[in-house]
Amino acid sequence: MLTRFAPSPTGELHLGHAYSAVLAHDAARKAGGIFRLRIDDIDGSRSREDHLLAALADLAWLGVDWDGDPLRQSDRLGDYAAALADLERRGLVYPCFCTRADIAASLAAPHGPPGPVGTVYPGTCRHMGAAARERRLADDPHCWRLDMGRAAALAGDLDWEEADEGRRPADPAVHGDVVLARKDAPASYHLASTIDDAAMGVTLVVRGADLIASTDIHRLLQALFGLPTPTYRHHALVCGADGKRLAKRDGAAALAGLRAAGADGRVLAADLLDGRLPTGYSLQKA
Ligand code: GLU
Repeated sequence: MLTRFAPSPTGELHLGHAYSAVLAHDAARKAGGIFRLRIDDIDGSRSREDHLLAALADLAWLGVDWDGDPLRQSDRLGDYAAALADLERRGLVYPCFCTRADIAASLAAPHGPPGPVGTVYPGTCRHMGAAARERRLADDPHCWRLDMGRAAALAGDLDWEEADEGRRPADPAVHGDVVLARKDAPASYHLASTIDDAAMGVTLVVRGADLIASTDIHRLLQALFGLPTPTYRHHALVCGADGKRLAKRDGAAALAGLRAAGADGRVLAADLLDGRLPTGYSLQKA
């Protein structure tokens, strides 16, 4: 059994992160397994070292101890590039030169319903001729998108094991041609997360129910790369008094603030494990 917690050091950790970390840590410790940290810091413009240090201090305060050194995604850019090159050789990705405005303009025409995670890309650059593509690749900013039609056809029917629920079908096609490498970063969350979970030997992914839709895509990437599929536990989300899921802007729920105010992190962790939240917060399935 190997679980992980994967903070993005782009802001302060809050009660929602604490809930996720405590559940993942507890699952590993109860099974005599391993609990590791993955630092999702490929976003160079938003990731900050002070946020990372604060997150590590928050986890220690909660009594969440981790095994080995944290895996930093910023150290693994070569692995992401190699994975993308592999998909390119197989004709499963293509460069996309569209700006947000281009995409919005083409979506103004009726192209079907929006996807479960953001807009579904209309496929404009998939149809670009080879010569134009070569010419633009050298000079123009671009991301890389998965050719979902081809990839999904190649992979066939997919599902995964959802802890305590059983098999759950994956439906990657509804997401359209998702981005696997961004204009400003050599990988997207989907690509980096899938490759790293496999490289770390993660057997149980514990994360919020808001990421169930992403698991459709991760399951497809596992199939394309021949990687093992972990079991997933998508847990309920911590919501504030307004019933909305906590976001980075909800300063009141920040762990650093609770820590500074003298709260006992281990008591909080034990309460979270039992599903008891501080006043004003609740757990809701997405
Ligand atoms: N860094 C991601 C997040 O905070 C991790 C999600 C995951 O566990 O895969 O949302």
